[in-house]
Amino acid sequence: MKVLVINSGSSSLKYELFEMRQRTSLARGLLERIGEPGSRLLHHGRDSAGQADELVREQPVPDHRAALRLVQTVLHQTGAIADSAELLGIGHRVVHGGEAFQQPTLINQRVLEAIRRQIPLAPLHNPANLLGIEVALAEYAHVPQVAVFDTAFHHTLPPHAWHYALPAELYQRHGIRRYGFHGTSHQYVSGRAAEILGRPLIELNLIVLHLGNGASATAVRGGRSVDTSMGFTPLEGLMMGTRCGDLDPAVIFFLTRDAGLSIDQIDALLNKDSGLRGVCGANDMREVLRRAAAGDPRAQLAVEMYCYRVKKYVGAYMAALGHVDAIVFTAGIGENSAEVRAGSCRDLDGLGISLDPARNASSSGGPRAIHSDGSRVQVLVVPTDEELEIAAQTVACIQAASDAPGAPGAPDAPRQPGARGEAGEVRGER
Ligand code: AMP
Repeated sequence: MKVLVINSGSSSLKYELFEMRQRTSLARGLLERIGEPGSRLLHHGRDSAGQADELVREQPVPDHRAALRLVQTVLHQTGAIADSAELLGIGHRVVHGGEAFQQPTLINQRVLEAIRRQIPLAPLHNPANLLGIEVALAEYAHVPQVAVFDTAFHHTLPPHAWHYALPAELYQRHGIRRYGFHGTSHQYVSGRAAEILGRPLIELNLIVLHLGNGASATAVRGGRSVDTSMGFTPLEGLMMGTRCGDLDPAVIFFLTRDAGLSIDQIDALLNKDSGLRGVCGANDMREVLRRAAAGDPRAQLAVEMYCYRVKKYVGAYMAALGHVDAIVFTAGIGENSAEVRAGSCRDLDGLGISLDPARNASSSGGPRAIHSDGSRVQVLVVPTDEELEIAAQTVACIQAASDAPGAPGAPDAPRQPGARGEAGEVRGER
């Protein structure tokens, strides 16, 4: 029961092949610089003796179709896929599902059109995701394909959390509201945290901190997202590698009127040149921590700011949830930086949160508890695996559709009662 997961970016194609009976990864890779000079595929798989093996292909890859063909060739040549009939399905990561998609969805023409209608909400991501889907549909016409949305996990946000304090018509006419992102990661990590805690997810209140290049915090009650720090776009919320996170919107008026910047320049400034990079010149947390340790005051400030902002969201989500069972750190920084975890939980004993320094410093790569014995709130490190979550949701969606025609996820299923309208339609208040 093999499932291929595809994450198609504007000039890159990331993929992973899973055997879902054992939930194991068979092969994965990243093809970069599609349509540019210097295209390069790095593939990790297994050789004929089952040993981990790596191969690099450097050859011109003019477009996404050529990219997927190269990936297909490598998967076949390395024996990872002998025949495409082995594939139960293909799962595609789609960044923005808007209000139209609240769950993974089997792709058909109608679904493709609905994803296309979300492009104004995610102009950088959805076109690239769509390109990957269209190419895969052409290459694997007989394999069921499922779209898994970054936004879907957050469809359970209550109205008081997803509304902005703006005139109602901005939501109704333009869909301006909080959507939230990193949903597959928050969902996967919540489920794993429940397994580790040995308690049903439905009983747990969690704060999940996804701290990677992009970063977001989510308050999860009983397995449902009830608040999240990213908003209309992934720019809001925590400080990130190159994104500013929360900001007084009046800064934008000032930059336009008084500093003479164009909207495109401000867009680039806030998305690409802010965050850690803006404050200290480096966006990779490892580099920032190195510079801070060497005494660079700007890097020290960047780390202080980063941790302080995480801590503020922890406090806010404790208030939102009322009671918290566990705080969960995940993604590149959350999984690997004891210093950032310590800084984010510093002086929170009054809220029942205290770390054990030795447990926090452990370099084990696996899931682990890092709180002190006396801590009322448990603190966990749980590695995320968005690709595995996409594969699992792909299997569930295909099985639901084949078990019960008309079930949620089936391409021609009727809309569920209470489901919100597709993007592009005039939205009504819920
Ligand atoms: P991700 O987007 O999840 O791949 O995370 C990327 C971020 O994780 C980058 O800022 C990396 O610098 C950071 N990161 C990875 N390993 C470490 C580490 N050992 N210590 C601190 N940050 C790390």
